[in-house]
Amino acid sequence: APSAAAPVPRAVLAGIPAYVPKPPSPPAQGPSHRLFLNENPYPPLPSVREAIAEASARTNYYPTIHPERLLDALARRLDVPSAHLVTGPGSVGIYQQIGQAMLEPGDEVVYAWPSFEAYPIVARMAGAVPVEVPLADGVHDLDAMADAITARTKAVFLCEPNNPTGTAVGAAELTRFLDRVPGDVLVVLDEAYFEFYRSPNAPDGVELHRDRPNLLTLRTFSKAYGLAGLRVGYGVAQPAIAEALRKCSVPCGVGRIAEEAALASLRVEAELFERVERIVAERERTREALLGLGWEVLPSETNFLWLPAGEAAEPVAREWESSGLLVRAFPHSGMRVTIGSPEANDLLIAAAKETAPPAR
Ligand code: PMP
Repeated sequence: APSAAAPVPRAVLAGIPAYVPKPPSPPAQGPSHRLFLNENPYPPLPSVREAIAEASARTNYYPTIHPERLLDALARRLDVPSAHLVTGPGSVGIYQQIGQAMLEPGDEVVYAWPSFEAYPIVARMAGAVPVEVPLADGVHDLDAMADAITARTKAVFLCEPNNPTGTAVGAAELTRFLDRVPGDVLVVLDEAYFEFYRSPNAPDGVELHRDRPNLLTLRTFSKAYGLAGLRVGYGVAQPAIAEALRKCSVPCGVGRIAEEAALASLRVEAELFERVERIVAERERTREALLGLGWEVLPSETNFLWLPAGEAAEPVAREWESSGLLVRAFPHSGMRVTIGSPEANDLLIAAAKETAPPAR
């Protein structure tokens, strides 16, 4: 007879919620707009779809262990040796590699909160201790983060610009912070929204990594390049860190179709960046309109806006959901709204007009 005993998963998993927040539910009738995952509203360009179709004819073959052609193309594009690069199935995939390659039980991981929700999961999964430093007025408090670093700190996760608030600290502040971090602490600079960052003071993590052996910069094809459905992210670091992360990658973790789509996207980058420009213009237009209606909206360097709404966040999000605007509510705190098509943004503005702005 089968034994009554059961295998026990690692104890740390008990403290990690297995669920992701429930996605908003679209109304039964009428169009709806996905504004809750910071996706790009534009479908892939024709040449990218052709590359995807061509690669789909060869999916009986494995891809290479690492996507060598994509690594070469990125090395040329970013002007870095390919030994400085690591790829993964989205940048979340690289975070798992970071956990495996860099974190031991008991290590401390410092990050701001609220920030990207993968951070506490990655830290806890490795048995590390999350050290959360509250944002100050929606912005990274870099002094407090530097002060939170102890002899046990192994890594700092820094989201610039920050998800979910859209805010950024800028190159001067960031560099000052990096200069304060001890050399044996890994700084992960998460630049998922780099291409939407318009301030002249925007940092460039690829440039910063050149003389900083403890810096790992992460970027993704999911946002500006519109390939969220195919899962391609990459990291840039000096060879010792990059090699450690490559060792921990899932073999063949970037599939053939994903690699070809990323390569094709690099070939039409100029056209993709025109779309990014349109999204940025829509972001500014939408923010101005919402401010004009009395809503509080933080300045954003990303493809989404943060509306501090306190207790109103959930009820308002439910109300907008019923009219097809699927936004992300953060309970008791605010709403994160992705910049969508101009029509979707117009609907958002119309909905905000119909709703009394939350009291400040
Ligand atoms: N980092 C940040 C800050 C993000 O907001 C996201 C996506 N929401 C990611 C990383 C993950 O992106 P992907 O895994 O699609 O590359």
